[in-house]
Amino acid sequence: MDKGYKVQVEDLHKRFGDNEVLKGVNLDVKNNEVVCMIGPSGSGKSTFLRCLNKLEDPTSGHVYIDSYDISDPKTNIDEVRQNIGMVFQHFNLFPHLNVLRNITLAPTQLKKVDETKAEKQAMHYLDIVGLTKKAQAMPSQLSGGQQQRVAIARALAMQPDVMLFDEPTSALDPEMVGDVLAVMKQLAQQGMTMIVVTHEMGFAKSVADRVVFFHDGLIQEEGTPEEVFDHPKQPATQSFLDKVL
Ligand code: ADP
Ligand code: MG
Repeated sequence: MDKGYKVQVEDLHKRFGDNEVLKGVNLDVKNNEVVCMIGPSGSGKSTFLRCLNKLEDPTSGHVYIDSYDISDPKTNIDEVRQNIGMVFQHFNLFPHLNVLRNITLAPTQLKKVDETKAEKQAMHYLDIVGLTKKAQAMPSQLSGGQQQRVAIARALAMQPDVMLFDEPTSALDPEMVGDVLAVMKQLAQQGMTMIVVTHEMGFAKSVADRVVFFHDGLIQEEGTPEEVFDHPKQPATQSFLDKVL
């Protein structure tokens, strides 16, 4: 993979039976770049993100993450996944573990970080998401927004090279959305490489280095936020923005 890139996707196809969901997607993401993906429901955004860490197996095409060719069957996908932080719409915290343990589990089990060090690091990431006071709480005692911030801290604790977000605020009550977006904005400013699928156009406008418009299994248009939001070239982009802005 070319130096300076964290993610390179070449001609990615994904088919479910007769349904071709990804029709040849190309996307390169540079180190420290924040790419926001927008587009209608059903256009293949989640499938695309899931192909990046092989939660879905691409039908054809190539995906490189950091130095790994994840399309190569010899690549150790568990090792790659440890370097990719993923945050979903539904936070999926372990309900029977407290916040601290949710965060230390993967580093202690997968990376063999010792417990004391893992807890210290967990407190650091809880500080980043503004939740040090909730370290001992159980997930059920937290609001949706707080749970999502714990999920972000949990992903960060693996010290990933790249963070993938799939509509991280879509399931939240409106008053919770701002805190989660603020954490993501802070990560972006600290140089985290991020791909964010979002319906939060304000976030995309102010945080994205690049906005990608996904439609019908393809990237139909991409550019700076100004280019895509203020001067969309494709009719499909225009009509999508007319509906959501
Ligand atoms: P988006 O995230 O943009 O809303 P998705 O990637 O979730 O779009 O879905 C795109 C299309 O892929 C939809 O038609 C959906 O039904 C189909 N799809 C997604 N996952 C599966 C699956 N596991 N099996 C069959 N079809 C799927
Ligand atoms: Mg989706």
